[in-house]
Formats: sequence, C-alpha cells, structure tokens
Amino acid sequence: MFISSIINGEMYNEENRETLPVKNPYNQQEIAKIILASREDLNAAVDNCYETYHRIIKKMPAYERADILLKTAQLLEARREDFAQTVAEEAGKPLKLSRDEVDRAVQVLRFASEYAKQINGEVIPLDAAVGGENRLGFTKRIPLGVVAAITPFNFPLNLSLHKIAPALAAGNTVIFKPAEKTPISAFKLVQLFHEAGLPKGALNVIMGLGEELGDPLVEHDKVQKVTFTGSLPVGKGIREKAEFKKITLELGSNSPNIIFEDADIDSLVDNLVTGAFAFSGQVCISAQRIYVHESIYNEFLKKFVTQTKALQIGDPLDEKTDFGPMIDEEAAERAKLWIDDAVSNGAKVETGGELTGAMLTPTIMTNVHNDMKVIAEEVFAPIVSIIPFRTEEEAIKLSNDSIYGLQAGIFTNDINRALYVADELEMGGVWINEISTYRQDNHPYGGVKQSGIGREGVKYAIDDMTELKFIGIKLN
Ligand code: NAD
Repeated sequence: MFISSIINGEMYNEENRETLPVKNPYNQQEIAKIILASREDLNAAVDNCYETYHRIIKKMPAYERADILLKTAQLLEARREDFAQTVAEEAGKPLKLSRDEVDRAVQVLRFASEYAKQINGEVIPLDAAVGGENRLGFTKRIPLGVVAAITPFNFPLNLSLHKIAPALAAGNTVIFKPAEKTPISAFKLVQLFHEAGLPKGALNVIMGLGEELGDPLVEHDKVQKVTFTGSLPVGKGIREKAEFKKITLELGSNSPNIIFEDADIDSLVDNLVTGAFAFSGQVCISAQRIYVHESIYNEFLKKFVTQTKALQIGDPLDEKTDFGPMIDEEAAERAKLWIDDAVSNGAKVETGGELTGAMLTPTIMTNVHNDMKVIAEEVFAPIVSIIPFRTEEEAIKLSNDSIYGLQAGIFTNDINRALYVADELEMGGVWINEISTYRQDNHPYGGVKQSGIGREGVKYAIDDMTELKFIGIKLN
C-alpha cells in the first residue's frame, strides 16, 4: 500500500519518488510505504490551501461547514472497524483502545459540527467611555486562513481531528502533517472528508519527515497558525520559528496522581493500572508518578502489582490483548536505559522491565528520587513510579516539582482537601477521584509550564483558531 500526500484532492504517487516504510510495531512487518513529499510539494499544498480559503471556504456558510463535519462523523462511525484495525496495526495500539479512539474521534467531529454554528461575538457598550455616545461596537470571530496541523503518533486519528475539525468548523483551511510512523489513518481520514463533501484544497495532507518539512511549513508566510501536538524539543523549535503566527503547543508531561489516606484503594487500583499502562504509557497524561499516603502505601503497592501482572500482553490485533508494544525498538530501548539508570542509583523494579524488541513489559518502580529521569522527565513508556508521602503539603510540593504541568489526578473523599489541592497544583487540568489519564473531548485541555501553550477541546480550539475582529459604527 502506498501512502501519498493529497493536495487539492489529488494523490502525489508518481513513480521514482523516495519512499519510507511503515512498520507494524508488534512484528516489524512492513504494512505500507510513504511516498515522501518534497519542499516543492509542501509549497504547492500551502498555496492551494491559501487559494481555496479565499475562493471557497471563507465564503462558505456555517451550516454547510457543520453538515460536512457531521457527514464525516457518520462515515467514520460506519467504518469504525476499518479505522480501528488501521490504528492498531500502524501504532501497535491494542484493538480495544483503537476502537475507543475511533469512537472519540466521531464525537470530536460531532462537537465540531455543533460548534461551527455557535461562533459568535458580542456587543461592546461604547457609551461606557466619555465621548462614546452614538456609537455602536461589536465583535466577530473570523477565521485565520491557513492552519498548519502537525500531529504525533500516539492518537493518530483523534489528536489529528482535535486540530482539523475545529479549524474547519471555524472556516479555515488546513495543511495537515501527520506523524510519519502512523500515516495510514491520516491518509484515510483525508479521503473521508472528501467523500463527505469537503471541497478539494480545504484539507491537504503532506506526508514526510518532520525534520525536513517542519521548518518550511512553520515558517511559510501563507500559514497563519501552527497547531502542534508532540514532544517538548520539537515544540520549542516551533515556538522560535513561528514568529508572529498564532501557535498552540500540546506537549509532554509526567503526570502525578495523589492518593490520600481516605481513598478507597479497591475501587481505584484497576483504573490507575489502566492510567499508567494504556497504550504502553505512550499517552501525554499517562499516570507516571503515583504519590500514596504512607499509611496505605504497602497495601496499595501490593494490589497495584497484582493488577499489573494480570494485564494480557500480546499482539495488538488480538481481541484479548490489553498491552502491546511501544512504537518502535528505539523508543523501548531508550525507556529500558532510563530504568537501568534509576536502578543503578538505588531504585527498585517491583515488576516488569523486560525488553524484547519494541515490547517493554509493564514496569513498576519504587525507591525513586525526583532527580531520576523516570520521575523528572516524561517517560512516555510503560513505567510508573510509586512514592510514599506524609503530608498534604509534601504531596503538593512533589507533584509541582516538574517542568511540566498538564493534568493531575487526586483521590480523596474530603471535598475541602480536594478543592484546596486542585487549586495548589500547577496544572492545566485536575481531576478529583479520576486518573490524570482521563480526558473528555469537550473540556478545555492543555498545559502550563513546558507542557504547552493554548487549549484544545473543540470549542476552545475554535477560539484559538479564530481572530477577534472589532467593528465600530458612528451613528448620526
Ligand atoms: P514528535 O515531537 O517526535 O513528533 C510530532 C510531530 O512533529 C510528527 O508529525 C513529526 O513528524 C513532527 N516533527 C518532527 N520534527 C519536527 C520539526 N523540526 N518541525 C516540525 N514538526 C516536526 O512527537 P511524537 O513522538 O510523535 O509524540 C510523542 C510526544 O507527543 C510526547 O512528548 C507526548 O507527550 C506528546 N503528546 C502531547 C499531547 C498533548 O495533548 N499535550 C498529546 C499526545 C502526545
């Protein structure tokens, strides 16, 4: 199968172009070849998005944009199984989770369809200022033009839609650069939009390497906004190069979860094991650090280890599999080195830590310190650390001792404590009695500190993908 860029509805798949293999992370078999886009292709794609924006999309009424988004949602729903298989195969994500991803992606499209009809401004009370009598002022939210959407491998469908759907809902055109490790679902998604009636050129996809196409895309003078989800180093580079463009950066984290002494361990262990090991920990809000009150620490650890050992490890395409490989061998080897490094500095592996190819078994670590990589940096791997604490203040301090601040979980039945700790945590979002890893697609989502800039969550992304324009009238 050849995966090519799609520009103005046309595939760029002539012979003699350079290609890149796409491999199933579980068995390393080649499942497709990407036909790599050149810089000329990139420029053609942006020019075409720009021209389509001015000629068609800028003038398209909201109800038409909403209809296209709804039709795309219906088509995706009808092809749920095909998309789930694709994500499972290209990302190595267990089928159960891949199906969840498709279901969430359908919801994102539905939300975008609804919000497309609710983009509004406000009337400004100009007579509030001396001399403002007989003047009328109002605001409109207007589209930006061409939005560049750069996406990661871990939720190839849903995180792409968190950018594409709000951008189109707001009346922009999109140049889409998916992760090169997971291009197949992206390729199919663009075709789905066309089938749903999206005009050609409103969504162009370029397939290629981020390090080659990234800079020219981010620096392109016809791109008005860059919305990026991915790693911190790449995000930093984008921030520097984007200059005056609007940007959204959804970056990494090392999410903390705090379990207070009054929490009901039995009801939360299962959920936290999922929070730590779903998609092999390759989730930006994966439960990486679990702080447990010392009075329940031993009991919690024992139950957590038991539940973890019950995870069914295997082929992502097998219905029974809970836990599959990491995205590639290089990523798994890097994670294993971090485990070994922590162990050589006194940490203990309670279970896991075994590496075979891209498969790193679910790993629980104790005796860790805040300066070890497994704590201080984003592991983005199936490694969780369980750490005891004594006081509320200590738990807050440990949780905040990070360059990141994306989302946290707190477990307690004391509402006063829960709300106090939620306020004290330096995070973009806090869940009470829910794991840090939980995300719904319509709440504001994004980080503080080096976890990023801006918010997604459809409605909030639409705000970030429109410009507020003021119009004033002097009345006679
Ligand atoms: P990555 O940064 O390696 O790649 C992400 C995308 O950026 C890919 O499409 C890649 O081709 C492109 N890219 C690479 N170099 C580039 C450059 N110089 N300029 C522009 N684009 C470039 O990330 P990844 O490994 O695919 O994903 C994992 C990371 O994503 C983790 O750090 C994770 O925390 C983060 N993430 C964050 C969120 C969030 O919402 N905050 C969600 C999912 C993933």
